[in-house]
Amino acid sequence: MTKVLYHNDIQEEVLSTKKIAIIGYGSQGHAHALNLKESGFDVVVGLRKGKSWDQAVEDGLPVYSVAEATSQADVVMILLPDEHQPKVYEESIKPNLQPGNALAFAHGFNIHFNQIVPPENVDVFLVAPKGPGHLVRRTFTEGAGVPALFGIYQDATGQAKQIALAYAKGVGAGRAGILETSFQEETETDLFGEQAVLCGGVTSLVKAGFETLTEAGYQPEVAYFECLHELKLIVDLLYEGGLENMRYSISDTAQWGDFVSGPRVITEETKARMKEVLTDIQTGAFAKGWILENQANRPQFNAINTKENNHPIEKVGRELRELMPFVKKPVNSKKGSGH
Ligand code: NDP
Ligand code: MG
Ligand code: MG
Repeated sequence: MTKVLYHNDIQEEVLSTKKIAIIGYGSQGHAHALNLKESGFDVVVGLRKGKSWDQAVEDGLPVYSVAEATSQADVVMILLPDEHQPKVYEESIKPNLQPGNALAFAHGFNIHFNQIVPPENVDVFLVAPKGPGHLVRRTFTEGAGVPALFGIYQDATGQAKQIALAYAKGVGAGRAGILETSFQEETETDLFGEQAVLCGGVTSLVKAGFETLTEAGYQPEVAYFECLHELKLIVDLLYEGGLENMRYSISDTAQWGDFVSGPRVITEETKARMKEVLTDIQTGAFAKGWILENQANRPQFNAINTKENNHPIEKVGRELRELMPFVKKPVNSKKGSGH
């Protein structure tokens, strides 16, 4: 098994003498900034004026423009939305980087796909917590942490690895486990996981099941419970103990149905499609499409989003969740999920 590092394996001295600028204060930004500060590090936040700026000030952090925060800092962690990073980097970060500084990311996309090309005289590393920002923050305040991947793209100072590990420890990941990866592996597996399984795979599976039941004349309310609502219980069991633990908890009838019908739904054909998705990620075809979509102000993204929000499963879901006060209200924008 690959080596997993914990809290006590890591020396943080290399980062204690440095100033860290967290650029962005959204889901990941607020968690990194607050956790690092409470771990004893010297943290400033870099932002434009707006909602996040006000929040960071309210949380007691020193806030500056992106250019000013970068100028002061030794380590610059970029936690802006991936689509906005190249422009902000060119305009406000690159001109203010000093030789020997470190540039850091929580996702490898812009470095791996050459949307940001850093100078050779800075360290470049990633620390990617394997969980949403609000969980990174909450687990930290509870004395625990979310596991993280770290990776080195460029080691200009000879200390990039020590700095990355100290950073990961400061965010709280040392309490849960820190694993080494590369920018390429992190980027490609992250994109594949969210597209084929976690987000794209699950939403398409849920919709197909719901449509199959309602088209056969079953009530949408019942279809909603069977195909979406109960998913949480199953996912919790998977999370706690893998497939075996989930199958141990469900009825034998459900387990037999799992064995005989699962492979009829997700077939070799589905796996061949997954391979196509992976190939598009590896060749850069997916990245190119997404970059162009953003340059065109997201015409397809917005059209599909509107259509998806009007799917019958969403309409019946909104009504049913009103009747279930124990189901936590969703955070309206996924982006605000950290606060
Ligand atoms: P969010 O969208 O939650 O936050 C973005 C932040 O950037 C906000 O504070 C926003 O401030 C600020 N911002 C946006 N545009 C600008 C700009 N032009 N100048 C200055 N500030 C700006 O981002 P995430 O936390 O979701 O993502 C950050 C990084 O972390 C990405 O690389 C992502 O891939 C990675 N990541 C995210 C995870 C997650 O849980 N969401 C998980 C692991 C990695 P304002 O209020 O002014 O708009
Ligand atoms: Mg991702
Ligand atoms: Mg059932």
